[in-house]
Amino acid sequence: MTDIATRTKDILGRLGAGDPFVADGDLICRSPIDGSEIGRLKSHTPDETSDIIGRAQSAFEQWRTVPAPVRGQFVRELGELLREHKEDLGALVSIEAGKIVSEGLGEVQEMIDICDLAVGLSRQLHGLTIATERPGHRMMEQWHPLGVIGVISAFNFPVAVWSWNAALAFVCGDAVVWKPSEKTLLTAVGCQALAAEAGRRAGVPDGLSALLIGDRTVGELMVDDRRVALVSATGSTRMGKEVAPRVAARLGRTLLELGGNNAAIVAPSADLDLAVRGIVFSAVGTAGQRCTSLRRIIVHESIKDELVAGLKAAYETLPIGSPLESSTLVGPLVDEQAFSAFGAAVAQAQSDGGDLVTGGTQSESDGGFYVHPAIIDMPKQTEIVKAETFAPLLYVLTYSDFDEALALHNDVAQGLSSSIFTLNVREAETFVSVVGSDCGIANVNIGPSGAEIGGAFGGEKETGGGRESGSDAWRAYMRRSTNTVNYSTELPLAQGVEFV
Ligand code: NAD
Repeated sequence: MTDIATRTKDILGRLGAGDPFVADGDLICRSPIDGSEIGRLKSHTPDETSDIIGRAQSAFEQWRTVPAPVRGQFVRELGELLREHKEDLGALVSIEAGKIVSEGLGEVQEMIDICDLAVGLSRQLHGLTIATERPGHRMMEQWHPLGVIGVISAFNFPVAVWSWNAALAFVCGDAVVWKPSEKTLLTAVGCQALAAEAGRRAGVPDGLSALLIGDRTVGELMVDDRRVALVSATGSTRMGKEVAPRVAARLGRTLLELGGNNAAIVAPSADLDLAVRGIVFSAVGTAGQRCTSLRRIIVHESIKDELVAGLKAAYETLPIGSPLESSTLVGPLVDEQAFSAFGAAVAQAQSDGGDLVTGGTQSESDGGFYVHPAIIDMPKQTEIVKAETFAPLLYVLTYSDFDEALALHNDVAQGLSSSIFTLNVREAETFVSVVGSDCGIANVNIGPSGAEIGGAFGGEKETGGGRESGSDAWRAYMRRSTNTVNYSTELPLAQGVEFV
Protein backbone atom coordinates (compact mmCIF):
# COMPACT_ATOMS: atom_id res chain seq x y z
CA MET A 1 0.00 0.00 0.00
CA THR A 2 1.41 3.46 -0.95
CA ASP A 3 1.81 6.26 1.60
CA ILE A 4 -1.08 8.07 -0.03
CA ALA A 5 -3.31 5.00 0.21
CA THR A 6 -2.43 4.53 3.88
CA ARG A 7 -3.08 8.20 4.64
CA THR A 8 -6.42 8.04 2.81
CA LYS A 9 -7.48 4.99 4.79
CA ASP A 10 -6.59 6.73 8.06
CA ILE A 11 -8.51 9.87 7.09
CA LEU A 12 -11.60 7.89 6.09
CA GLY A 13 -11.45 6.14 9.45
CA ARG A 14 -11.33 9.44 11.32
CA LEU A 15 -14.23 10.79 9.24
CA GLY A 16 -16.29 7.80 10.39
CA ALA A 17 -16.43 6.06 7.01
CA GLY A 18 -14.74 2.87 8.33
CA ASP A 19 -13.08 0.87 5.57
CA PRO A 20 -15.33 1.37 2.54
CA PHE A 21 -13.11 -0.48 0.07
CA VAL A 22 -14.23 -3.55 -1.86
CA ALA A 23 -11.30 -5.68 -3.09
CA ASP A 24 -13.01 -6.72 -6.34
CA GLY A 25 -14.80 -3.39 -6.84
CA ASP A 26 -15.32 -2.15 -10.40
CA LEU A 27 -14.43 1.49 -9.63
CA ILE A 28 -10.73 2.25 -9.14
CA CYS A 29 -9.97 5.27 -6.98
CA ARG A 30 -6.71 6.99 -7.93
CA SER A 31 -4.78 9.98 -6.69
CA PRO A 32 -3.73 12.43 -9.41
CA ILE A 33 -0.68 13.23 -7.24
CA ASP A 34 1.14 10.13 -8.51
CA GLY A 35 -1.55 8.20 -10.39
CA SER A 36 -1.50 5.47 -7.75
CA GLU A 37 -4.49 3.31 -6.88
CA ILE A 38 -5.91 4.16 -3.47
CA GLY A 39 -8.62 1.53 -3.39
CA ARG A 40 -11.68 0.13 -5.12
CA LEU A 41 -15.38 0.63 -4.64
CA LYS A 42 -18.37 -1.17 -6.08
CA SER A 43 -21.03 0.55 -8.20
CA HIS A 44 -24.61 0.45 -7.03
CA THR A 45 -26.80 -1.81 -9.14
CA PRO A 46 -30.03 -0.52 -10.72
CA ASP A 47 -32.04 -2.21 -7.92
CA GLU A 48 -29.87 -0.69 -5.20
CA THR A 49 -30.14 2.71 -6.90
CA SER A 50 -33.92 2.45 -6.98
CA ASP A 51 -34.03 1.41 -3.30
CA ILE A 52 -31.84 4.36 -2.28
CA ILE A 53 -34.13 6.80 -4.11
CA GLY A 54 -37.17 5.10 -2.57
CA ARG A 55 -35.75 5.48 0.94
CA ALA A 56 -34.99 9.14 0.22
CA GLN A 57 -38.60 9.64 -0.89
CA SER A 58 -39.90 8.11 2.37
CA ALA A 59 -37.46 10.25 4.39
CA PHE A 60 -38.69 13.34 2.54
CA GLU A 61 -42.30 12.57 3.48
CA GLN A 62 -41.36 12.76 7.17
CA TRP A 63 -38.78 15.52 6.92
CA ARG A 64 -41.09 17.99 5.14
CA THR A 65 -43.30 18.12 8.23
CA VAL A 66 -40.43 19.07 10.56
CA PRO A 67 -40.40 22.87 11.14
CA ALA A 68 -37.69 24.56 9.09
CA PRO A 69 -35.77 26.00 12.11
CA VAL A 70 -35.62 22.47 13.56
CA ARG A 71 -34.37 21.20 10.20
CA GLY A 72 -31.67 23.85 10.50
CA GLN A 73 -30.29 22.02 13.55
CA PHE A 74 -29.26 19.10 11.33
CA VAL A 75 -27.27 21.46 9.10
CA ARG A 76 -25.79 23.12 12.18
CA GLU A 77 -24.52 19.70 13.34
CA LEU A 78 -23.08 19.10 9.89
CA GLY A 79 -21.30 22.46 9.97
CA GLU A 80 -19.84 21.65 13.40
CA LEU A 81 -18.53 18.29 12.16
CA LEU A 82 -17.01 19.95 9.11
CA ARG A 83 -15.21 22.43 11.38
CA GLU A 84 -13.91 19.56 13.48
CA HIS A 85 -12.73 17.56 10.45
CA LYS A 86 -11.69 20.41 8.19
CA GLU A 87 -8.06 19.39 7.99
CA ASP A 88 -8.80 15.73 7.21
CA LEU A 89 -11.47 16.43 4.62
CA GLY A 90 -9.29 19.15 3.04
CA ALA A 91 -6.38 16.69 2.81
CA LEU A 92 -8.67 14.13 1.20
CA VAL A 93 -9.67 16.75 -1.41
CA SER A 94 -5.96 17.31 -2.11
CA ILE A 95 -5.32 13.59 -2.37
CA GLU A 96 -8.25 12.85 -4.64
CA ALA A 97 -8.67 16.01 -6.71
CA GLY A 98 -5.05 17.21 -6.61
CA LYS A 99 -5.81 20.62 -5.08
CA ILE A 100 -3.04 22.38 -3.17
CA VAL A 101 -3.41 22.29 0.61
CA SER A 102 -4.91 25.78 1.02
CA GLU A 103 -7.44 25.16 -1.76
CA GLY A 104 -8.44 21.83 -0.25
CA LEU A 105 -9.00 23.56 3.09
CA GLY A 106 -10.73 26.46 1.32
CA GLU A 107 -13.18 24.06 -0.24
CA VAL A 108 -14.13 22.68 3.17
CA GLN A 109 -14.40 26.24 4.50
CA GLU A 110 -16.89 26.90 1.71
CA MET A 111 -18.94 23.96 3.00
CA ILE A 112 -18.86 25.43 6.51
CA ASP A 113 -19.91 28.82 5.12
CA ILE A 114 -22.91 27.40 3.24
CA CYS A 115 -23.97 25.49 6.38
CA ASP A 116 -23.88 28.76 8.34
CA LEU A 117 -25.92 30.46 5.63
CA ALA A 118 -28.44 27.62 5.53
CA VAL A 119 -28.90 27.55 9.31
CA GLY A 120 -29.79 31.26 9.26
CA LEU A 121 -31.99 30.72 6.24
CA SER A 122 -33.94 28.04 8.09
CA ARG A 123 -35.56 30.88 10.05
CA GLN A 124 -36.02 33.10 7.00
CA LEU A 125 -37.76 30.97 4.36
CA HIS A 126 -40.50 33.36 3.44
CA GLY A 127 -43.40 33.90 1.09
CA LEU A 128 -45.43 36.99 0.24
CA THR A 129 -48.81 38.51 0.91
CA ILE A 130 -50.16 40.00 -2.32
CA ALA A 131 -52.90 42.58 -2.77
CA THR A 132 -56.15 41.02 -3.99
CA GLU A 133 -58.89 42.76 -5.98
CA ARG A 134 -61.61 40.85 -4.09
CA PRO A 135 -62.97 42.28 -0.82
CA GLY A 136 -62.78 40.01 2.22
CA HIS A 137 -60.04 37.90 0.64
CA ARG A 138 -56.38 37.40 1.27
CA MET A 139 -53.86 36.19 -1.30
CA MET A 140 -50.51 34.76 -0.29
CA GLU A 141 -47.62 32.76 -1.56
CA GLN A 142 -46.01 29.94 0.42
CA TRP A 143 -42.91 27.90 -0.28
CA HIS A 144 -43.15 24.18 0.44
CA PRO A 145 -40.47 21.46 0.36
CA LEU A 146 -39.99 20.06 -3.14
CA GLY A 147 -39.03 16.39 -2.76
CA VAL A 148 -35.95 14.32 -3.51
CA ILE A 149 -33.09 16.40 -4.91
CA GLY A 150 -30.65 14.48 -7.13
CA VAL A 151 -27.19 16.06 -7.05
CA ILE A 152 -24.66 15.21 -9.77
CA SER A 153 -21.24 16.69 -9.09
CA ALA A 154 -17.97 17.20 -10.97
CA PHE A 155 -14.49 16.14 -9.87
CA ASN A 156 -13.07 19.62 -9.45
CA PHE A 157 -15.22 20.69 -6.50
CA PRO A 158 -15.70 17.21 -5.09
CA VAL A 159 -17.35 18.26 -1.84
CA ALA A 160 -18.36 21.94 -2.02
CA VAL A 161 -20.88 21.43 -4.82
CA TRP A 162 -22.74 18.81 -2.82
CA SER A 163 -22.84 21.13 0.19
CA TRP A 164 -24.12 24.11 -1.81
CA ASN A 165 -27.06 21.97 -2.81
CA ALA A 166 -27.48 19.80 0.25
CA ALA A 167 -27.31 22.46 2.98
CA LEU A 168 -30.05 24.49 1.28
CA ALA A 169 -32.10 21.44 0.32
CA PHE A 170 -32.08 20.06 3.87
CA VAL A 171 -33.35 23.28 5.45
CA CYS A 172 -35.89 23.57 2.63
CA GLY A 173 -37.28 20.19 3.74
CA ASP A 174 -35.92 17.99 0.97
CA ALA A 175 -34.00 14.72 0.85
CA VAL A 176 -30.76 14.56 -1.13
CA VAL A 177 -29.36 11.73 -3.25
CA TRP A 178 -25.82 12.47 -4.40
CA LYS A 179 -24.09 10.98 -7.44
CA PRO A 180 -20.51 12.27 -7.13
CA SER A 181 -17.89 12.18 -9.88
CA GLU A 182 -16.43 8.73 -10.40
CA LYS A 183 -13.02 10.46 -10.14
CA THR A 184 -13.61 11.66 -6.57
CA LEU A 185 -15.61 8.98 -4.81
CA LEU A 186 -13.71 8.91 -1.53
CA THR A 187 -14.29 12.55 -0.63
CA ALA A 188 -17.97 11.80 -1.17
CA VAL A 189 -17.80 8.74 1.09
CA GLY A 190 -16.07 10.87 3.76
CA CYS A 191 -18.68 13.63 3.51
CA GLN A 192 -21.52 11.19 3.62
CA ALA A 193 -20.09 9.70 6.83
CA LEU A 194 -20.13 13.18 8.40
CA ALA A 195 -23.69 13.78 7.15
CA ALA A 196 -24.75 10.42 8.64
CA GLU A 197 -23.25 11.38 12.03
CA ALA A 198 -24.93 14.80 11.90
CA GLY A 199 -28.18 13.01 11.07
CA ARG A 200 -27.82 10.69 14.09
CA ARG A 201 -27.18 13.65 16.38
CA ALA A 202 -30.16 15.59 14.99
CA GLY A 203 -32.45 12.55 14.70
CA VAL A 204 -33.27 12.84 10.99
CA PRO A 205 -35.12 10.10 9.09
CA ASP A 206 -32.99 7.31 7.58
CA GLY A 207 -32.08 7.84 3.96
CA LEU A 208 -32.46 11.63 4.05
CA SER A 209 -28.89 12.07 2.83
CA ALA A 210 -27.80 9.31 0.48
CA LEU A 211 -24.90 8.51 -1.80
CA LEU A 212 -25.07 6.77 -5.17
CA ILE A 213 -21.79 5.19 -6.16
CA GLY A 214 -21.11 4.72 -9.84
CA ASP A 215 -20.29 6.33 -13.13
CA ARG A 216 -22.62 8.16 -15.48
CA THR A 217 -24.82 5.08 -15.98
CA VAL A 218 -25.85 5.29 -12.32
CA GLY A 219 -26.34 9.04 -12.87
CA GLU A 220 -28.65 8.27 -15.78
CA LEU A 221 -30.81 6.01 -13.61
CA MET A 222 -31.26 8.88 -11.17
CA VAL A 223 -31.92 11.37 -13.96
CA ASP A 224 -34.71 9.19 -15.35
CA ASP A 225 -36.34 8.47 -11.97
CA ARG A 226 -39.66 10.28 -11.59
CA ARG A 227 -39.28 10.35 -7.81
CA VAL A 228 -36.38 12.80 -8.19
CA ALA A 229 -38.09 16.19 -8.29
CA LEU A 230 -35.03 18.26 -9.12
CA VAL A 231 -31.80 17.17 -10.77
CA SER A 232 -29.05 19.61 -9.85
CA ALA A 233 -26.21 18.75 -12.20
CA THR A 234 -22.72 20.26 -12.16
CA GLY A 235 -20.24 19.30 -14.84
CA SER A 236 -19.44 19.74 -18.50
CA THR A 237 -21.81 21.27 -21.02
CA ARG A 238 -21.74 17.91 -22.78
CA MET A 239 -23.18 16.29 -19.64
CA GLY A 240 -25.82 19.04 -19.29
CA LYS A 241 -26.94 18.54 -22.87
CA GLU A 242 -27.49 14.84 -22.12
CA VAL A 243 -29.15 15.30 -18.74
CA ALA A 244 -31.49 18.23 -19.51
CA PRO A 245 -33.57 16.56 -22.27
CA ARG A 246 -33.93 13.35 -20.24
CA VAL A 247 -35.29 15.22 -17.23
CA ALA A 248 -37.44 17.41 -19.50
CA ALA A 249 -38.93 14.27 -21.09
CA ARG A 250 -40.53 13.48 -17.72
CA LEU A 251 -41.19 17.21 -17.07
CA GLY A 252 -38.90 17.19 -14.06
CA ARG A 253 -36.85 20.18 -12.97
CA THR A 254 -33.15 20.77 -13.58
CA LEU A 255 -30.62 23.15 -12.09
CA LEU A 256 -27.60 23.18 -14.39
CA GLU A 257 -24.11 24.42 -13.51
CA LEU A 258 -22.01 23.69 -16.59
CA GLY A 259 -18.81 24.74 -18.31
CA GLY A 260 -17.38 28.24 -18.50
CA ASN A 261 -14.99 30.10 -20.77
CA ASN A 262 -14.22 33.03 -18.58
CA ALA A 263 -12.45 36.18 -19.72
CA ALA A 264 -10.90 39.32 -18.28
CA ILE A 265 -10.73 42.60 -20.14
CA VAL A 266 -7.61 44.55 -19.20
CA ALA A 267 -8.09 48.22 -20.06
CA PRO A 268 -5.41 50.91 -20.50
CA SER A 269 -6.06 52.41 -17.03
CA ALA A 270 -5.74 49.07 -15.21
CA ASP A 271 -3.54 48.74 -12.14
CA LEU A 272 -1.23 46.27 -13.88
CA ASP A 273 0.40 44.92 -10.75
CA LEU A 274 -3.00 44.04 -9.32
CA ALA A 275 -4.16 42.71 -12.70
CA VAL A 276 -1.18 40.36 -12.97
CA ARG A 277 -1.82 38.96 -9.49
CA GLY A 278 -5.55 38.57 -10.16
CA ILE A 279 -4.96 36.94 -13.54
CA VAL A 280 -2.34 34.49 -12.30
CA PHE A 281 -4.55 33.27 -9.44
CA SER A 282 -7.60 32.92 -11.69
CA ALA A 283 -5.81 31.25 -14.59
CA VAL A 284 -3.49 28.95 -12.70
CA GLY A 285 -5.26 28.26 -9.39
CA THR A 286 -6.47 24.64 -9.13
CA ALA A 287 -4.23 24.07 -12.20
CA GLY A 288 -6.87 25.80 -14.35
CA GLN A 289 -9.49 23.23 -13.34
CA ARG A 290 -12.15 25.53 -11.93
CA CYS A 291 -15.35 26.21 -13.81
CA THR A 292 -14.53 29.89 -13.20
CA SER A 293 -10.86 29.63 -14.23
CA LEU A 294 -9.68 32.49 -16.39
CA ARG A 295 -9.14 31.25 -19.94
CA ARG A 296 -9.10 34.41 -22.09
CA ILE A 297 -7.48 37.82 -21.59
CA ILE A 298 -8.71 40.65 -23.80
CA VAL A 299 -6.07 43.33 -23.40
CA HIS A 300 -5.80 46.81 -24.88
CA GLU A 301 -3.05 47.01 -27.51
CA SER A 302 -1.29 49.87 -25.67
CA ILE A 303 -0.49 47.76 -22.57
CA LYS A 304 -0.34 44.28 -24.04
CA ASP A 305 3.45 43.92 -24.10
CA GLU A 306 3.82 45.08 -20.51
CA LEU A 307 1.02 42.83 -19.25
CA VAL A 308 2.23 39.76 -21.11
CA ALA A 309 5.80 40.33 -19.89
CA GLY A 310 4.52 40.56 -16.29
CA LEU A 311 2.49 37.38 -16.67
CA LYS A 312 5.34 35.48 -18.30
CA ALA A 313 7.67 36.42 -15.44
CA ALA A 314 5.09 35.33 -12.85
CA TYR A 315 4.31 32.07 -14.68
CA GLU A 316 7.96 31.09 -14.92
CA THR A 317 8.47 31.15 -11.16
CA LEU A 318 5.35 29.18 -10.25
CA PRO A 319 6.11 26.24 -7.96
CA ILE A 320 4.65 23.14 -9.66
CA GLY A 321 4.50 19.81 -7.89
CA SER A 322 2.80 17.67 -5.30
CA PRO A 323 -0.22 19.53 -3.90
CA LEU A 324 0.66 18.18 -0.47
CA GLU A 325 3.86 20.28 -0.33
CA SER A 326 3.08 23.60 1.34
CA SER A 327 5.14 25.58 -1.19
CA THR A 328 3.31 24.25 -4.28
CA LEU A 329 0.95 26.54 -6.16
CA VAL A 330 0.24 24.36 -9.20
CA GLY A 331 -0.75 20.74 -8.62
CA PRO A 332 -1.51 18.03 -11.16
CA LEU A 333 -4.20 17.70 -13.80
CA VAL A 334 -6.79 15.17 -12.77
CA ASP A 335 -5.88 12.44 -15.26
CA GLU A 336 -4.32 11.50 -18.57
CA GLN A 337 -7.40 12.57 -20.52
CA ALA A 338 -7.09 16.11 -19.12
CA PHE A 339 -3.39 16.09 -19.96
CA SER A 340 -4.06 15.04 -23.57
CA ALA A 341 -6.76 17.71 -23.94
CA PHE A 342 -4.25 20.33 -22.73
CA GLY A 343 -1.60 19.20 -25.24
CA ALA A 344 -4.10 19.04 -28.08
CA ALA A 345 -5.42 22.55 -27.36
CA VAL A 346 -1.90 24.02 -27.22
CA ALA A 347 -1.10 22.39 -30.58
CA GLN A 348 -4.36 23.54 -32.16
CA ALA A 349 -3.91 27.11 -30.97
CA GLN A 350 -0.40 27.17 -32.42
CA SER A 351 -1.63 25.82 -35.74
CA ASP A 352 -4.25 28.61 -35.70
CA GLY A 353 -1.37 31.11 -35.63
CA GLY A 354 -1.00 31.42 -31.85
CA ASP A 355 2.37 32.32 -30.37
CA LEU A 356 3.30 30.25 -27.30
CA VAL A 357 4.54 32.82 -24.77
CA THR A 358 5.37 30.34 -22.02
CA GLY A 359 4.63 26.82 -20.76
CA GLY A 360 2.55 24.25 -22.58
CA THR A 361 4.85 21.36 -21.75
CA GLN A 362 4.79 18.48 -19.30
CA SER A 363 6.49 19.14 -16.00
CA GLU A 364 8.59 16.67 -14.03
CA SER A 365 6.18 14.15 -12.61
CA ASP A 366 6.06 11.22 -10.29
CA GLY A 367 3.36 9.33 -12.13
CA GLY A 368 0.88 12.21 -12.12
CA PHE A 369 0.13 14.60 -14.99
CA TYR A 370 1.80 17.92 -14.20
CA VAL A 371 2.12 20.71 -16.76
CA HIS A 372 3.72 24.12 -17.10
CA PRO A 373 0.76 26.50 -17.36
CA ALA A 374 0.58 28.00 -20.84
CA ILE A 375 0.01 31.48 -22.22
CA ILE A 376 -0.72 31.72 -25.94
CA ASP A 377 -0.95 35.02 -27.81
CA MET A 378 -3.69 34.57 -30.41
CA PRO A 379 -4.17 36.55 -33.64
CA LYS A 380 -7.94 36.11 -33.27
CA GLN A 381 -10.62 34.24 -31.31
CA THR A 382 -10.55 30.89 -33.13
CA GLU A 383 -12.71 27.83 -32.36
CA ILE A 384 -10.22 26.39 -29.86
CA VAL A 385 -10.30 29.66 -27.90
CA LYS A 386 -14.09 29.45 -27.82
CA ALA A 387 -13.96 25.93 -26.34
CA GLU A 388 -13.41 25.22 -22.63
CA THR A 389 -10.15 23.30 -22.18
CA PHE A 390 -10.11 22.25 -18.54
CA ALA A 391 -6.43 23.01 -17.85
CA PRO A 392 -4.13 26.00 -17.18
CA LEU A 393 -4.21 27.47 -20.68
CA LEU A 394 -4.61 31.22 -21.06
CA TYR A 395 -5.23 32.85 -24.44
CA VAL A 396 -4.33 36.50 -25.04
CA LEU A 397 -6.50 38.51 -27.43
CA THR A 398 -5.89 42.16 -28.24
CA TYR A 399 -8.34 45.03 -28.72
CA SER A 400 -8.18 48.67 -29.70
CA ASP A 401 -11.74 49.81 -28.98
CA PHE A 402 -13.83 49.03 -25.86
CA ASP A 403 -16.88 47.89 -27.87
CA GLU A 404 -14.64 45.44 -29.71
CA ALA A 405 -13.44 44.09 -26.33
CA LEU A 406 -17.01 43.55 -25.16
CA ALA A 407 -17.95 41.87 -28.44
CA LEU A 408 -15.00 39.48 -28.19
CA HIS A 409 -15.82 38.88 -24.54
CA ASN A 410 -19.39 37.79 -25.22
CA ASP A 411 -18.69 35.89 -28.45
CA VAL A 412 -18.48 32.45 -26.83
CA ALA A 413 -21.16 29.87 -26.10
CA GLN A 414 -20.55 29.84 -22.33
CA GLY A 415 -21.60 32.55 -19.86
CA LEU A 416 -20.33 31.75 -16.38
CA SER A 417 -17.91 34.34 -14.99
CA SER A 418 -16.09 37.42 -16.20
CA SER A 419 -14.05 40.38 -15.08
CA ILE A 420 -12.58 43.70 -16.07
CA PHE A 421 -9.45 45.40 -14.79
CA THR A 422 -9.90 49.14 -15.16
CA LEU A 423 -9.82 52.33 -13.11
CA ASN A 424 -12.21 54.00 -15.56
CA VAL A 425 -15.65 54.15 -13.96
CA ARG A 426 -17.46 54.32 -17.31
CA GLU A 427 -15.83 51.11 -18.48
CA ALA A 428 -16.42 49.38 -15.13
CA GLU A 429 -20.09 50.34 -14.98
CA THR A 430 -20.65 49.49 -18.66
CA PHE A 431 -19.11 46.07 -18.07
CA VAL A 432 -21.55 45.20 -15.29
CA SER A 433 -24.51 46.84 -17.08
CA VAL A 434 -27.10 45.32 -19.39
CA VAL A 435 -24.91 45.98 -22.44
CA GLY A 436 -21.77 44.61 -20.79
CA SER A 437 -20.77 41.10 -19.77
CA ASP A 438 -23.44 38.49 -20.56
CA CYS A 439 -22.26 36.18 -17.75
CA GLY A 440 -23.89 35.21 -14.47
CA ILE A 441 -20.91 36.68 -12.61
CA ALA A 442 -19.22 39.96 -13.62
CA ASN A 443 -16.39 41.33 -11.45
CA VAL A 444 -14.36 44.53 -11.43
CA ASN A 445 -10.67 44.52 -10.49
CA ILE A 446 -10.69 40.92 -9.32
CA GLY A 447 -10.45 37.82 -11.48
CA PRO A 448 -13.44 35.65 -12.42
CA SER A 449 -12.75 32.85 -9.94
CA GLY A 450 -13.05 32.59 -6.16
CA ALA A 451 -16.72 33.35 -5.54
CA GLU A 452 -18.06 33.53 -1.98
CA ILE A 453 -21.17 31.91 -0.63
CA GLY A 454 -23.49 34.92 -0.12
CA GLY A 455 -24.05 35.61 -3.81
CA ALA A 456 -26.00 33.46 -6.24
CA PHE A 457 -23.58 31.33 -8.25
CA GLY A 458 -24.11 30.24 -11.85
CA GLY A 459 -24.10 31.32 -15.44
CA GLU A 460 -26.00 31.89 -18.65
CA LYS A 461 -26.08 30.39 -22.15
CA GLU A 462 -24.36 26.98 -22.31
CA THR A 463 -23.41 27.28 -18.64
CA GLY A 464 -27.00 26.23 -18.07
CA GLY A 465 -28.78 29.13 -16.33
CA GLY A 466 -28.86 27.62 -12.82
CA ARG A 467 -28.08 29.48 -9.61
CA GLU A 468 -26.83 27.92 -6.38
CA SER A 469 -25.64 29.06 -2.99
CA GLY A 470 -26.64 32.50 -1.69
CA SER A 471 -29.18 35.25 -2.51
CA ASP A 472 -32.55 33.59 -3.26
CA ALA A 473 -31.08 30.40 -4.77
CA TRP A 474 -32.98 28.42 -2.09
CA ARG A 475 -36.20 28.85 -4.06
CA ALA A 476 -35.00 26.24 -6.58
CA TYR A 477 -35.32 23.61 -3.83
CA MET A 478 -38.93 24.46 -2.96
CA ARG A 479 -42.29 24.59 -4.67
CA ARG A 480 -44.47 27.67 -4.69
CA SER A 481 -48.07 27.53 -3.60
CA THR A 482 -50.37 30.52 -4.26
CA ASN A 483 -53.32 30.60 -1.86
CA THR A 484 -56.44 32.77 -1.90
CA VAL A 485 -58.48 32.69 1.30
CA ASN A 486 -62.05 34.08 1.36
CA TYR A 487 -63.00 35.23 4.86
CA SER A 488 -66.17 37.04 3.71
CA THR A 489 -69.73 35.80 3.17
CA GLU A 490 -69.70 36.82 -0.51
CA LEU A 491 -68.23 35.07 -3.53
CA PRO A 492 -66.93 37.85 -5.80
CA LEU A 493 -65.17 36.54 -8.91
CA ALA A 494 -61.91 37.95 -10.25
CA GLN A 495 -61.95 40.17 -13.36
CA GLY A 496 -65.56 41.08 -12.56
CA VAL A 497 -66.90 37.83 -14.01
CA GLU A 498 -70.60 37.26 -13.23
CA PHE A 499 -71.73 33.64 -12.79
CA VAL A 500 -74.95 32.76 -11.07
P1 NAD B 1 -18.31 15.67 -16.38
O1 NAD B 1 -19.39 16.32 -17.17
O2 NAD B 1 -17.41 14.73 -17.09
O3 NAD B 1 -18.93 14.87 -15.14
C1 NAD B 1 -19.69 15.51 -14.15
C2 NAD B 1 -20.63 14.54 -13.50
O4 NAD B 1 -21.66 14.18 -14.43
C3 NAD B 1 -20.01 13.21 -13.05
O5 NAD B 1 -20.56 12.87 -11.81
C4 NAD B 1 -20.45 12.24 -14.13
O6 NAD B 1 -20.52 10.90 -13.69
C5 NAD B 1 -21.83 12.78 -14.45
N1 NAD B 1 -22.35 12.46 -15.79
C6 NAD B 1 -21.71 12.55 -16.96
N2 NAD B 1 -22.54 12.26 -17.98
C7 NAD B 1 -23.75 11.99 -17.42
C8 NAD B 1 -25.02 11.60 -17.94
N3 NAD B 1 -25.21 11.45 -19.25
N4 NAD B 1 -26.04 11.40 -17.07
C9 NAD B 1 -25.85 11.56 -15.74
N5 NAD B 1 -24.68 11.90 -15.19
C10 NAD B 1 -23.62 12.11 -16.02
O7 NAD B 1 -17.44 16.87 -15.72
P2 NAD B 1 -16.07 16.82 -14.93
O8 NAD B 1 -14.95 16.54 -15.88
O9 NAD B 1 -16.20 16.01 -13.70
O10 NAD B 1 -15.97 18.36 -14.44
C11 NAD B 1 -15.47 19.39 -15.22
C12 NAD B 1 -16.59 20.20 -15.86
O11 NAD B 1 -17.51 20.65 -14.87
C13 NAD B 1 -16.08 21.48 -16.53
O12 NAD B 1 -16.77 21.65 -17.74
C14 NAD B 1 -16.43 22.56 -15.52
O13 NAD B 1 -16.55 23.85 -16.09
C15 NAD B 1 -17.73 22.05 -15.01
N6 NAD B 1 -18.05 22.62 -13.69
C16 NAD B 1 -19.02 23.57 -13.63
C17 NAD B 1 -19.30 24.17 -12.41
C18 NAD B 1 -20.33 25.27 -12.32
O14 NAD B 1 -20.73 25.58 -11.20
N7 NAD B 1 -20.78 25.86 -13.40
C19 NAD B 1 -18.63 23.78 -11.24
C20 NAD B 1 -17.66 22.78 -11.35
C21 NAD B 1 -17.39 22.20 -12.58
